[in-house]
Amino acid sequence: HATIYYDDDADSTALEGKTVAVMGYGSQGHAHAQNLADSGVDVVVGLRENSSSRDAVREDGLDVATPVEAAARADVVSMLVPDTVQPAVYDDIADELDAGDTLQFAHGFNIHFGQIEPADDVDVTMVAPKGPGHIVRRDYERGEGTPGLLAVYQDATGEAADEALAYAQGIGCTRAGVVETSFREETETDLFGEQAVLCGGVTSLIKQAYETLVDAGYSPEMAYFECLNEMKLIVDLMYEGGLGDMWDSVSDTAEFGGLTKGDVVVDEHARENMEEVLDDVQSGAFAREWIAENQANRPAYRQLRQAEKDHEIEEVGERLRDLFAWAEESESNEERNETE
Ligand code: NDP
Ligand code: MG
Ligand code: MG
Repeated sequence: HATIYYDDDADSTALEGKTVAVMGYGSQGHAHAQNLADSGVDVVVGLRENSSSRDAVREDGLDVATPVEAAARADVVSMLVPDTVQPAVYDDIADELDAGDTLQFAHGFNIHFGQIEPADDVDVTMVAPKGPGHIVRRDYERGEGTPGLLAVYQDATGEAADEALAYAQGIGCTRAGVVETSFREETETDLFGEQAVLCGGVTSLIKQAYETLVDAGYSPEMAYFECLNEMKLIVDLMYEGGLGDMWDSVSDTAEFGGLTKGDVVVDEHARENMEEVLDDVQSGAFAREWIAENQANRPAYRQLRQAEKDHEIEEVGERLRDLFAWAEESESNEERNETE
């Protein structure tokens, strides 16, 4: 079983007198920078000269500098620009990482797949909140925290774990709980999860089921409700109380049908396919594919994105969400989240 750390396990003195440079002010960057500053940590945000994020940093009352200047001032450099951009930003700031400084991540991809190779005298750590930045910020402001992961890849000072734990406390994660992991485990499970279930598996399941109903002559509206809209209600139940709460809440007919047919739909072939997907994650084949795709300016990615946008279910959904109140409500929720 994994070790879980809470507030009492953390010691904020590990960051005392140190400066944290947060590279990027997007989803994670704005949350880490503001939470750390509110926790009393000296923070500087690193952004390129022409960055569209500079005004937001100033409005939030934080210091902003170029990535090189920020890294020069810092003892801890937190890499919170997009993963595909991190190697280039790292090349720019690498000379500013002194012996004993820390390079800190929120995802292990670039370290695990060798896209960033820090010097031996630098600590390399990860504190990865399990949620998007606006939730990390919102939870913190409410006096709560977002659960997170913590990993140490390289411990040059002997103090890497203590400092990472203080960082996790500074952004609020230890209030909820921080699970100890490794860069390898975080990277591989994260990629597998988003491919097999969260982003890939679930959208394919929805589209295939929708197409099956529509091809059999049922109305697109009915297919949309059954295969996409109701997904949220089911997932909410599983989130609250596991599979058991979901099975308890649906009718006996739904439970019996679900229990007998689930494995017919997602059968041993799907399992074999998942193992293949996991193999490609573990071997680095997926990482190489994604890096090459970026180097080629994303031709396949653009095409796939467009095809997804053009799927009939998107058009049906847009029409239906305009007609029903639930969508209005969730939009205003989103606005509320974003203005926070
Ligand atoms: P974002 O896409 O939100 O980062 C955008 C920020 O990066 C902006 O401030 C942008 O400024 C800056 N930026 C973009 N390109 C460059 C560049 N070429 N040079 C300098 N700055 C640049 O990133 P995320 O917060 O989504 O991701 C950051 C890290 O956190 C990643 O490692 C990710 O895997 C991880 N993570 C993300 C989660 C999420 O929910 N988003 C959850 C957990 C981890 P500009 O105006 O200059 O473009
Ligand atoms: Mg330095
Ligand atoms: Mg991910």
